[in-house]
Amino acid sequence: MEKIGFIGLGIMGKPMARNLIKAKYPLVVHDRNRGPVDELAAEGATPATSSKEVTEQSDVVITMLPDSPDVEKVVFGKDGVLEGVSSGMLFIDMSTIAPATARSVYETLKAKGVESLDAPVSGGEVGAKEATLSIMVGGIEDAFQRAMPIFEVMGKNIVLIGEPGAGQVTKACNQIVVGVTIQAVSEALILARKSGVDPARVREALLGGFAKSRILELHGQRIIDRTFQPGFRIRLHRKDLGIALQTGRELSLPLMTTSTVAELMNALIARGDGDLDHSSLALLLDQLGGEE
Ligand code: NAD
Repeated sequence: MEKIGFIGLGIMGKPMARNLIKAKYPLVVHDRNRGPVDELAAEGATPATSSKEVTEQSDVVITMLPDSPDVEKVVFGKDGVLEGVSSGMLFIDMSTIAPATARSVYETLKAKGVESLDAPVSGGEVGAKEATLSIMVGGIEDAFQRAMPIFEVMGKNIVLIGEPGAGQVTKACNQIVVGVTIQAVSEALILARKSGVDPARVREALLGGFAKSRILELHGQRIIDRTFQPGFRIRLHRKDLGIALQTGRELSLPLMTTSTVAELMNALIARGDGDLDHSSLALLLDQLGGEE
């Protein structure tokens, strides 16, 4: 079995790493916070104090970090992955970051004889715990095949999309559809309520027709119940729409609706609601429409 290094043991990374331990992979772990490192060490992982140290002891290194600058720091920074790599290793970044950063990591590691994959996920903390994540992968076929047994320990719907960066482009597409659809569902259900029509009945009717979606089903219910605890935080979703908008700018593609939803998320964050669920777009609209 390949020896795996895992860097970034947060909400997502810790349960993903735990599933690798359960599958009997030898695992070396690191996080800038000591807590989750100690927790996984007690379950059989080997603790390390830097990304370089993780890399030196591993055949495959996985990162699950917040954002592009974090991945750049862990890979290119002092005591980072790049200082510990050797030819023949595989690097897999599972964070949601900019496609351009994923491509630059790919090129730099390739020059050292190291293949890499961008493999962001969808499915949230529950998917990470239950090993049912969707994994969207960019990179070459051989590297994908090598990673497949490892991905199968963490996820279910695992797709090689295309070239390096293609996994991150797919995740950006996913986040556009989810964000814009939540806003559409919010507008529909609040319009119903302000018209004196029961939004629960509207949701029920729409679920039988062309407007049916998982977002109408799950977030529609949250909006009706006004339960906005996360879930997926507004703060993280704005980061992801920022990645989509930046990628659009690089391609001179106007993403007008995405940008409107990102601005509404800015407003929620500005007033201190960045840690609410992304369905709280409905809360903002409610208040813009004069409701308490
Ligand atoms: P998180 O903030 O809970 O975890 C990130 C971890 O990385 C933290 O433990 C942090 O200490 C560690 N870290 C940051 N910089 C580091 C460094 N320089 N060295 C070592 N460790 C470092 O975030 P998360 O919710 O686990 O999300 C991780 C990624 O997955 C993000 O890109 C996020 O957008 C994406 N994602 C999250 C969810 C979700 O529901 N939370 C769902 C899908 C995708």
